[in-house]
Amino acid sequence: MAESMAGLKRSCRCTEVTEANIGQELTLMGWVQKSRNKGGIIFTDLRDRSGIIQIIFEESDCGTESFEKAERLRSEFAVAVTGVVEKRSGAANPNLKTGTIEVRAKALRILSESEVPPFPIEENSRTREELRLKYRYLDLRRPDLQRNIMTRSRVATMVRQFLADEGFLEIETPTLIKSTPEGARDYLVPSRVHPGSFYALPQSPQLLKQLLMCSGFDRYFQLARCYRDEDLRADRQPEFTQIDMELSFVDVDDVLDVNERMLKKLFKEICDFDVQLPIQRMTWREAMDRFGSDKPDMRFGMELKNVSDVVKDCEFVVFKSALEAGGSVRAINAEGQAGMPRKKIDALVEFAKGFGAKGLAYLAVNADGTYKCSFGKFMKPEELDALVAAMDAKPGDLLFFAADKDKVVFDVLGNLRLELARQLDLLKKDDFKFLWVTEFPLLEYSEEEGRYVAMHHPFTMPMEEDLPLIDTDPGAVRAKAYDIVLNGTELGGGSVRIHQADVQEKMFEVLGFTKERAEDQFGFLLEAFKYGVPPHAGLAYGLDRVVMLMVGADSIRDVIAFPKVKDASCMLMEAPSEVDKKQLDELGIAVVAQDPAAE
Ligand code: ASP
Repeated sequence: MAESMAGLKRSCRCTEVTEANIGQELTLMGWVQKSRNKGGIIFTDLRDRSGIIQIIFEESDCGTESFEKAERLRSEFAVAVTGVVEKRSGAANPNLKTGTIEVRAKALRILSESEVPPFPIEENSRTREELRLKYRYLDLRRPDLQRNIMTRSRVATMVRQFLADEGFLEIETPTLIKSTPEGARDYLVPSRVHPGSFYALPQSPQLLKQLLMCSGFDRYFQLARCYRDEDLRADRQPEFTQIDMELSFVDVDDVLDVNERMLKKLFKEICDFDVQLPIQRMTWREAMDRFGSDKPDMRFGMELKNVSDVVKDCEFVVFKSALEAGGSVRAINAEGQAGMPRKKIDALVEFAKGFGAKGLAYLAVNADGTYKCSFGKFMKPEELDALVAAMDAKPGDLLFFAADKDKVVFDVLGNLRLELARQLDLLKKDDFKFLWVTEFPLLEYSEEEGRYVAMHHPFTMPMEEDLPLIDTDPGAVRAKAYDIVLNGTELGGGSVRIHQADVQEKMFEVLGFTKERAEDQFGFLLEAFKYGVPPHAGLAYGLDRVVMLMVGADSIRDVIAFPKVKDASCMLMEAPSEVDKKQLDELGIAVVAQDPAAE
């Protein structure tokens, strides 16, 4: 039985009722959290997006018809209650915002009944995620997800307001665009009108926002949906939202300045956290050397140190061969951890192997100043002393050493540093440590493709002073590119763009593009640049990550209303799905059946 709400109007949300309303008659609408019949008196917790309020039903107040309906109430029924606000007759509930009041019902309507939900609608669900995602609309009723989605909405509103006040224009760019297969894999959309041709869904509005700068809008932003068809690692989504912006007639400092003021405002208003400005800046080189990562978590120290010089004459073959091969030996100091049990150290060695280490050497400085060292027998005592001194290790400290190519050493120690911080509980979620990482390399060498690829994208401006290196030592050229990092997560990144035709041509050449291919893929941009292109720069944040860190969620799935799972499918709608043959015929598409035996 579902009643209508004709003649009723909701007065306010459940927790907007306060002691100031005592004595007033109100109508509330929401869902039954739970209902307990104590014989002659029924206590019902009524819930909406604001929270919970207690309703009391007694036949003498609400009449027989409503009382009988109240007896039938079950969790998740949608109801309308009219009643009078009172001070609580029983003990106050300090856990509820409305804990000192209740509503004595005069009338009840059951707007719709509910089957028993597949899991309880409660905070911190322990239900497995697949089930929650299949019934996401119920999962979203849970208070933690309600808060996350509401916070996300506030963030979006504040971003819009802040950027509008700063003179940015919100401009939409199309989502059916041309495929430019540089970067991640595109999602393709077949064209019916042009059989055999495809649109791509944008990986970002990069080229379009650069064209908007050519058009003279000078400050653009958009909350843009972006799509990347990648194998989903840990916490990625095939579609995600960027806070995307671009500015004309600016250099690096201008972009960083407006963005740090925006971050300060957001974190103050949403998290009541004061971001100290200016946000610390660190070059990519320094970040790698000190933290083994281009997105260092600055909430704790445990910095890497290069001890290659200290061990350069030692006979320990692991160190020796790494140095001979042009690599390095670096270490971190886990202070006070000398007593770490062997089992735990072994587990860390295994952990390091997961990042490409052949092994992990360690040295513990015992309380009496002697050493327990996995490679002690290969080293002279004075060599060990020199290492301990170089690492500023005190009695009680534990040192871990990695020796390999720089890339492996950074990866191993950067991740080991984080793992130790997790184990030692050094990562506080309500501490926000921001960092700009600047001067990224322009190019990185792709073993897979046998050529240099753009580290950010092909339109990123090299640093002027490094331009002469572009032919002789491309890997050493730094870019005017920057990332904003928070607690070890890259929140966003951007760059100053190339606006000189000759530099752009050079860039395409270094990336191995023929003139024809550059023309075919990016001709429209190169053409636009012939008509007075302003110097411009921009940045894009992953909105999902920003909100995730703000609310302290563990996954971006917890701040996206309808996320997809690891294999890029939607458990709720069961997408992707097969389509009618007629639809395929119209598109001129034939599906080649997968041979299960071939897999
Ligand atoms: N479009 C870039 C990205 O998605 C961001 C930027 O350079 O503005 O990473």
